[in-house]
Amino acid sequence: MTPAIYPGSFDPVTYGHIDVMRRALGIFGRLVVAVADNPEKDPLFTVPERLQMLRDIAGGMPGVEVDSFSGLLVEYARRRGASVIVRGLRALSDFEYEFQMALTNRKICGDLETVFLMTSEGYSYLSSRAIKEIALLGGDVSAFVPTVVAEMLSARGQARGR
Ligand code: ADP
Repeated sequence: MTPAIYPGSFDPVTYGHIDVMRRALGIFGRLVVAVADNPEKDPLFTVPERLQMLRDIAGGMPGVEVDSFSGLLVEYARRRGASVIVRGLRALSDFEYEFQMALTNRKICGDLETVFLMTSEGYSYLSSRAIKEIALLGGDVSAFVPTVVAEMLSARGQARGR
């Protein structure tokens, strides 16, 4: 059974991501959560730090592997022998970008399908960007992210003198 790939920035991982991971695992049985190494996005956490938080979380989820990739997602999927990409959809605002990416990827690699999972409604408002803003201003994010992530955010905020 080839794995499905759930790619993303995961900067940082939120309960919204974990919800998509759980539901994708239920459908596909094997899932590779792949951190995109894209320095142009100016991430708060390094790739090794994001791998660390994901591995901590995936430790309790048999069937989930955590990896990173740089370059084109379709090339990575090909290397991994995967034919399914999983992405999450929160709101209409996600749709246009995701639609473009899915069709572009399919054009580059005809046998790669993108499957969208709708977020559980309780997580529909959650975004990594909002979490970073709240945490770096000293707010409590423990309702939105696992403890390991909250601790890493707090350490990063302290290192920045907040
Ligand atoms: P990217 O920078 O690739 O968009 P993200 O880490 O922001 O990476 O998101 C990875 C994937 O997870 C995307 O498909 C995004 O729409 C989805 N996602 C992020 N947050 C949520 C959430 N709260 N509920 C469902 N899907 C989500």
